[in-house]
This record gives sequence, C-alpha cells and structure tokens, in this order.
Amino acid sequence: MTARKPINVRRPEVMARVRNKVQQYNSELVDSIRAAGNVLNLPGFEVHLAGAFGFCDGVKRAIEIAYATCAMFEGRRIWLIGEIIHNPAVNADLDAMGLRHLPWNLNDPVYAGLDEDDVVIIPAFGVSVLMRRMLEEKGVQLVDSTCGNVIRVWQKVRNYAKLGITSVIHGKAKHEESQATASQSCGEDGKGNFIVIFNETEAQLLADYIAGRGERAAFMAHFEGCYSAGFDPDIHLAEIGMANQTTMLKSETAHIQSMLRTAVVERDGDDLRFHAFDTICGATQDRQNALFELLDKPLDAMFIIGGYNSSNTTHLAHIASLKLPTFFVKEADCLMGLDKVRSFDLKAKAECEVALPLQAADLSRTWRIGVTAGASCPANVIESVVRRLAELRGCQL
Ligand code: SF4
Repeated sequence: MTARKPINVRRPEVMARVRNKVQQYNSELVDSIRAAGNVLNLPGFEVHLAGAFGFCDGVKRAIEIAYATCAMFEGRRIWLIGEIIHNPAVNADLDAMGLRHLPWNLNDPVYAGLDEDDVVIIPAFGVSVLMRRMLEEKGVQLVDSTCGNVIRVWQKVRNYAKLGITSVIHGKAKHEESQATASQSCGEDGKGNFIVIFNETEAQLLADYIAGRGERAAFMAHFEGCYSAGFDPDIHLAEIGMANQTTMLKSETAHIQSMLRTAVVERDGDDLRFHAFDTICGATQDRQNALFELLDKPLDAMFIIGGYNSSNTTHLAHIASLKLPTFFVKEADCLMGLDKVRSFDLKAKAECEVALPLQAADLSRTWRIGVTAGASCPANVIESVVRRLAELRGCQL
C-alpha cells in the first residue's frame, strides 16, 4: 500500500473551531504576573516566577494539532501514540475528547486492527522508524506533531550513521524521544549503531571502555537494552558522535561530552574520532537558565509544576532541590495543607507527603516562594497552584 502523506490539520478554518479548547490552557493571572516583572506581591506573600517557564512552542503546536485533528476527523477513530506530551491535565482533557491510545509496543494486538479509516497522531517526541513504517504500510492517516527540535537531532544522528560513526545518546533509554532518536541513528540501511547513556556514572563506564579499562562482559550486561542490535564495543566505539535527548540537563551533557572526548584523546592521542553537537532544545535551556537566575534570589521554597514523567520538569526539580526546599507538584490538589503537600520525590520516584517549611508559626513574616514549570505545563495549572498557595497563606487573590 502506498503511504499517505501526513496531513496539515492546523488550517485557519479548523483552528478557529478549536480556539476555545486551546485557550483553556492560558491564564490571565499568570500573564499579569509576567507583565509585572514575574513577581506577585500580596500582604505577607510573594510569588517569584522564573523568567521562562511553562509551555514551549513545540508543546503548544502538538496540543493544537491534537485538538485540530479531533475537529477535522470527527466521527473517525483517532489514535494517539502514547501521550501527546507529559502532562496529566492536558492528557485527561484529550482523553475526554475520545482520543484512543496506541501503546509503544509494536507487537500489541491493537495494531492488527488498524486500517486506512484510522487517524493516528504522532506525539511531540516522534516515533521510531519501525513504528512509522508499519503505520504507513497500514495506510492510516498520519498526523505528525513531532517537534522540529527533535527532528534536528535525528538529522545529526542520521548523518553520523552515514559516516559510520556510532551515536552516543545522552538520554533515558526508555523515553519515547530517545527511542525514536536511537532508531534514526541506525540510518537508512539500518546498519548504523548507537548506545544510550543516562548519566555521568554511565558515561564513566563508557569512557573507561573507550580508554581500554573496561571489561567486555560487564559492559555489555550493564548496557543491555541500551544499544543497537549487533553493537560490538570493540568495533563500534572506534568513532563516536554525541547527541542528546532535547530535554536533558545542559551542565550534565556538557560534562559527559568532556569525559568522552578525554577518553578518546587518551586512546588515540587526539579527538579526531570524537564528535559532538549540543542538541538540547532552546526551550529547555531557557527554563534551566531562568531557574538558576531565580535561585539567586532569597526564597523560602521552590515549587516546580509539571508531570512527573516529564524529563525537562524533572531536571528543573533536581536543580532547585540542590539549593532550596523544593516541592514538585503536578496540580493544585497536591497542596492539601500547610503540613501536607504531595510532592514527587526524585529518589523514591513516587509522590510523598511532606510539610511546607512555612508553618503556622511563620505566618508573621512574608513568604517568598519561587515558582516555575516545565515545558509541558499549561499556565492554567500554574495559576491554580499560585491561587492555592495564596489561600494557604490566607491571602485574597
Ligand atoms: S521541550 Fe524542546 S524538544 Fe520538547 S517539544 Fe518543547 S521545544 Fe520541542
């Protein structure tokens, strides 16, 4: 079957029909705080917003595409591969529109029932080459919301593959975007190679192997499931090129690049067989930089708002937690009381109930709270958290 071209659903007449749906994620309160220099001053309560926070352009576009698809293909079966973005509030809204979900596992029996009457939305993180090919072969109508920044990374790793360079991807091996990038790094003929490393500890294992200090069996066992089929570290680490999931921690990626470059120099005497491109997207960088600036202010606590499975939001929470009492919440309901906040614990990887450091005894002084949100968090959710904080402080908004 000839593959149908992905369709552009963001047409003016369609967007006019879904304007209200898309605008529900805006917030006048957040806009007014932004306009006032990112500070909200109330008696006894100050909210300091980061200079950059919340929805990035890629996420806004993906959400518009999802709503426009629902409007344009009303009455048809519309599927979304995984989640459009990693935000529970947005995903729940889309589920309520009747969107169905396709799992990432291509062997799932649901795929057997797809045909040309089905409409399938590719999420902002993209999909693997294999999945896209399979959907095209089924003749479904694809609607592609892959972010341009993700596609930019794919171009880099495809080029590595063309040149016989193995891609080293700094990312989470199980994250949708890293899986899609890994599949792209196998190149047109599928013969390219990749390895995904998650953090500096794994980068050290890789660096040691490159420099001749690794033990093959232990290396392969540690990275099982994180490298391409047929990957042989004694052959395929001869020339490496780095890329990263677009939402990683910039400082960590920079350090990992330096570690691997040093290992190649130790082995070869020069870095000619080491290549790197910074593929962290501008939106992720802006949010991390703005948080660093915010953390220079004298604050009592930080609130990071967003989905717990959102990579860029998790990194914001990690950065803030190194400096201040930090609460990572997905919605206002997480703030149950002054002594009870459901906050996501990065180490336990679960929500835990914790107390605000601002107890009733502190009510005599001004609370100075920092707030930021990941690139997939809508402004209306940020507003609800700010309102709840004000309520707990006894302020009228
Ligand atoms: S965080 Fe970056 S890569 Fe991800 S959707 Fe937004 S702009 Fe695109």
